[in-house]
Amino acid sequence: MKNFLIIFLVNLLIMCSSSSTVNSVDEGDTIIDPFKINSKLYPGINLGNALEAPNEGDWGVTIQETYFSIIKESGFNSVRIPIRWSTHAEVDSPYTIATDFMNRVKYVVDLALENDLYTVINIHHYEEIFENPRAHRERFLALWKQISDTFQDYPSDLVFEILNEPHDNFTVDLWNDYFPQAIDTIRRTNPDRTLIVGTAGWGGISALNNLEIPDDEQNLIITIHYYEPFHFTHQGAEWSDGSEAWLGTTWSATLEEVTSMKNHFDQIDAWATENNRPIYIGEFGAYHKADMYSRHLWTGYVVNQCQQHNFSWAYWEFCSGFGAWDPVSETWHELLIQALIQG
Ligand code: BGC
Repeated sequence: MKNFLIIFLVNLLIMCSSSSTVNSVDEGDTIIDPFKINSKLYPGINLGNALEAPNEGDWGVTIQETYFSIIKESGFNSVRIPIRWSTHAEVDSPYTIATDFMNRVKYVVDLALENDLYTVINIHHYEEIFENPRAHRERFLALWKQISDTFQDYPSDLVFEILNEPHDNFTVDLWNDYFPQAIDTIRRTNPDRTLIVGTAGWGGISALNNLEIPDDEQNLIITIHYYEPFHFTHQGAEWSDGSEAWLGTTWSATLEEVTSMKNHFDQIDAWATENNRPIYIGEFGAYHKADMYSRHLWTGYVVNQCQQHNFSWAYWEFCSGFGAWDPVSETWHELLIQALIQG
């Protein structure tokens, strides 16, 4: 009986240690575990409408040095920095990224890391590839080669996200074909960096079951964007057709609303468990034209769902149309920061 107990305990130990290392990769002596990196990505916030505008400042946000200390001191642990490279790179081979733009990105990433914030950078608003993916495959890979070369010596606190919200002609099939090619490009210089990949169809839940991840790629986090119900989160959003008609839509945590949100998160969780992959809700937020109390409630419920499912998250976004921070009064919107940080 005693022997049986010892064998049982030893087996249990082996089982536990192997399941926690299933998704780990060796980096010299240290183990890089995407679940561990993912657990550092929240609370997170997007520095949106800055470097992913055609030119920084075009959409009213120029990243300030102080932003990073404000974010860190308020209790966030990571920033996601969306970046539009496509307007700052040559259109013909070798598709060189402008030096001043690369230097600006490096400066911003350095500031984030110096402030002890885990940092996610991506390719954002590559509009031309959504229109004509085949014509842009080579350029897309060339962008990743240059970004990877530049940041190859950066610490593991810097995470690359392959592409924001593939959509339109960048179909599920093409995405499944191209994103592993981007990973191969990155892996030549960044063999141990944790990478993030999202779903086709605007990065939401709908195409999650169609995502085909190469089995041998273990150091990966899967990102999902959450803006449901869209008529609530995007009411009055100038870029969403018909959104004027949604103005006045509230979210008051009714049983129906909460059940619907819970179902979405359960659906993501079922996929994550089956595929043994960590999940990052890399964008969620409600536009400023929704009433503040509804935004507060909805944001708090999303954060709570993430916590319950062990998903990391980054609020969309810091100081613009969805902003939690008011750059004019230089204060947080109390009800939003409460929902995000103070629970
Ligand atoms: C887009 C932003 C937009 C946000 C909410 C992001 O992925 O890049 O331009 O404001 O989603 O719709």
